[in-house]
Amino acid sequence: MRILILTDIHANWEALEAVIDDARGHYDESVCLGDLVGYGASPGEVVDWVRKNVGAVIRGNHDKAVAGLELMEDFNILARAAVQWTRAVLSQEQIEYLRALPEGPLVRGDVSMAHGSPLDEDEYLLNIHDVLDIPSHLPEMICFVGHTHVQGGFLWQRGRPERLIRPAAHDREAVLKLAPATFHLLNPGSVGQPRDGDPRAAYVIYDSHARAVHFRRTSYDIAKAQRKILDAGLPELLAGRLALGR
Ligand code: ZN
Repeated sequence: MRILILTDIHANWEALEAVIDDARGHYDESVCLGDLVGYGASPGEVVDWVRKNVGAVIRGNHDKAVAGLELMEDFNILARAAVQWTRAVLSQEQIEYLRALPEGPLVRGDVSMAHGSPLDEDEYLLNIHDVLDIPSHLPEMICFVGHTHVQGGFLWQRGRPERLIRPAAHDREAVLKLAPATFHLLNPGSVGQPRDGDPRAAYVIYDSHARAVHFRRTSYDIAKAQRKILDAGLPELLAGRLALGR
């Protein structure tokens, strides 16, 4: 089984469309680890596509905020502005869909999938000290998370996490063969707002039969996504950061 894993699309239709094209024919089922909306200018298109095409979807903090399930205490002024704008442009039905999305983790065989952390959906797993305890709480040996918008992750060697590398600036793919009896915490990276210095859309295809994780990047029409953000009256910074991947 080859699973397309999407996360942090953030209402960026141009990035999602490029990922769909790039991944076509390479997967059997798809999952989404949350943050369908927020920041970008195409929340309706993204929600409708995910709803129609993705088998399993869990919620992210931005989905919760738009649905009124989150007080936004941790949201900065840009994120708040995007949430208000998104609420105003989505239909009631689209907002209801976001409100009904389940909290992670989602478990598929030996794989656990969460938005932030499998222990707390809103937690950011960025550094080694953030992830130390995770394997002792999970029966599954493979865990995919989003939320940080940084592609890559950690694998445990002799009981300690080590950081994984992700595709280099000009590579479209890096393949990780999963070692047996080794805990892996993996992040597909963000489809619609990468923050790891590479502005290309990021995603993963997990091949459970081959026990391989394909970390992939694809270019998309960043200028078009930026223009839509500016035309919508969303903060300029949300457009600018797309070109930087920060
Ligand atoms: Zn996000």
